[in-house]
Amino acid sequence: MWKGQYSEKLVNDKISKLSDEYVIFNDLLFESNGRSTQIDHVVVSPYGVFVIETKGYKGWIFGGENSEYWTQTIYKSKHQFYNPIKQNEGHVRFLHHLLRCSMNIPFIPIVVFNNAADLKVHIENHIVVNRCDLTWAISQYKTPVLDKATIDWIIKTIQQNHTIANKENLKRHKYNAKTQQYKSRNLISQSICPRCGGQLILRQGKFGSFYGCSNFPKCKFILNS
Ligand SMILES: [Zn+2]
Repeated sequence: MWKGQYSEKLVNDKISKLSDEYVIFNDLLFESNGRSTQIDHVVVSPYGVFVIETKGYKGWIFGGENSEYWTQTIYKSKHQFYNPIKQNEGHVRFLHHLLRCSMNIPFIPIVVFNNAADLKVHIENHIVVNRCDLTWAISQYKTPVLDKATIDWIIKTIQQNHTIANKENLKRHKYNAKTQQYKSRNLISQSICPRCGGQLILRQGKFGSFYGCSNFPKCKFILNS
């Protein structure tokens, strides 16, 4: 927990150096109907809305875009963690839902690792960087895509909907997340899609078999078999 908070602080130090075109939110917590979502950083700018997930891991990091879990190898010990790209995609889905409107808001998900992490990951369609490359990654986006009114509206909606990430709220968030995980595992064990209630079907893909949702392409839930 402490390590996680520390790396979030380091990332905040980094992004707070961006110009005032970029409005930064740290440690956002959203709650609705017993579900909650915690997002490390959201940066709203004319160039898009950056959604940042921070990982404080060091050592070698192995993983693929579509694998369910990634692996950290350090001092001959291995540790698995949920694919942070998927985790962050969940955050984007949540924001998309929160900011529902006819407008197409360009979200840019970024996963940031400790500078001491050696990233041995195969990524093509997402941004996964060390902290030292974060501002560079953000500043690659130079085309203005959001006007002032839309930016103000996004900022206002975030401000009005998030709860404060204090000890008590975070504790409830952890509890909600655990309950959600339990429910979701329970549904999966009955071959029910935890995202939409559809049927999970075994399919053959380029990289082997996987379980997909019967409501594809509307629902893109995938589980490695
Ligand atoms: Zn589904």
